[in-house]
Amino acid sequence: MGDSGKHEQNKAAFLREAERMYDELHSWRAENLDASFDEIGDQVTPYRRALVSKLLEQLAVEADARVEAPECEACGEAMRYRGDPTRIVGHREGEVAMERAYYYCDQCGGSLFPPGPPPAVE
Ligand SMILES: [Zn+2]
Repeated sequence: MGDSGKHEQNKAAFLREAERMYDELHSWRAENLDASFDEIGDQVTPYRRALVSKLLEQLAVEADARVEAPECEACGEAMRYRGDPTRIVGHREGEVAMERAYYYCDQCGGSLFPPGPPPAVE
């Protein structure tokens, strides 16, 4: 699949999440007309976190698909692509289940998640 196909797919997934947020929050508001501003904010927060997590997840893995199979740092052999294991990465914008490219060295058993270490957790 080309980058543009993936881009459109990600965009559609993000917009679906935004639409769900919009619809469900308006439904909630219609049933809670006496809610205070703070109560409304409390309703919005988990949706906002889910939405931003989706975006963060997409942005974080975007570069991985374009990375060439790297050489093993330990022994110099070309590493083999091993799929996209999901890892949970924490961030102040929420927890993200990230699928990241993963490479494995047949020679020495080393492994790598390019392009580098996961984002620092704050
Ligand atoms: Zn190796």
